[in-house]
Amino acid sequence: MRTMSALLAGAALVWAGSALAQNTSAETAPIIDVHMHAMDDAPWATPVCPNQARFEASDPKNGPEAPFGWSIEECSPKLYPAPKGQYMKMVLAEMERLNVRGVVFGEPDAVKKWQAAAPARVIPGTAFGRVAGGDAAKALKMMEVAFGQDGFKVMGEIGLQYEGISPSDMRVDQYFALAEKLDIPVAIHMGTGGSGRANVAMPTFRGSMGDPLLLEELLARHPKLRVQVMHAGYPMIDNMLTLLQANSHVYVDIAGLIWSYPRKEVNRYIERMVDAGFGDRVMYGTDQLAWPGLMAYSIGLIQNADYLSQDQKRDILYNNAARFLRLEPVK
Ligand SMILES: [Zn+2]
Repeated sequence: MRTMSALLAGAALVWAGSALAQNTSAETAPIIDVHMHAMDDAPWATPVCPNQARFEASDPKNGPEAPFGWSIEECSPKLYPAPKGQYMKMVLAEMERLNVRGVVFGEPDAVKKWQAAAPARVIPGTAFGRVAGGDAAKALKMMEVAFGQDGFKVMGEIGLQYEGISPSDMRVDQYFALAEKLDIPVAIHMGTGGSGRANVAMPTFRGSMGDPLLLEELLARHPKLRVQVMHAGYPMIDNMLTLLQANSHVYVDIAGLIWSYPRKEVNRYIERMVDAGFGDRVMYGTDQLAWPGLMAYSIGLIQNADYLSQDQKRDILYNNAARFLRLEPVK
């Protein structure tokens, strides 16, 4: 049975030939991935079977087991982590091949490394880090430098849910006030987490802090704040739709969700948002962390979605993000 990497390698060869002939990637319609991470290596990463999560029960007497519910048995396709030291190079090559620009989040120095390697492909993003035990004055100063002189474009990934903190908590209001003042969009992790995230993997995580409606007070205090709800608040679809309806400059990304939950469920979630009338606010993303083949795989999920029109696919893969990020239009 052919693996995903074999399929991708085949596709890469075919495409490289035509790119060479044209000396450009412009013939492939542009795509924006609004949710990537500036990792170097991911020694923790195992091969993954995309869209095959099974959230199996665990028993405390057996200790931690498969906390994310990712199946690592036989599957096709299976995505493999990049070999040591190869991750950034391989992901940037995929972005070139697939004509993707990406918002890359991480520590400023790590993101700058990606930006230096591919300035036309990388849109830089960074955030303020942990709240509990962190130095708030230092974090604020760092944000001022990043979004001032360093030209970072998005404040994210903001991981308050991992600390069990609401985005409307006043302890983080100063960062959002800065984003509103500088007209920088913010990207907040809301929803998803995998199996056993709170009780096995991360005791401070709270599923309830991924409720999209927790953004309401923040948005009321900062009416010009542009928010990207990362992972689309999955699985709280009704509250997500309520928020999108009440706040028309809120967008969502489908990163992580798109490949780490069962395919039928992912498609149903995306379809629900589009059918509810929010097709111009759903943005493609991967949550790219370790597996270079993930980008092509997850683009395929959108391109193969029979419930989306060609225009809706282009909106999700490019137009919505270009509007949200206020990028110059590309023909
Ligand atoms: Zn996230």
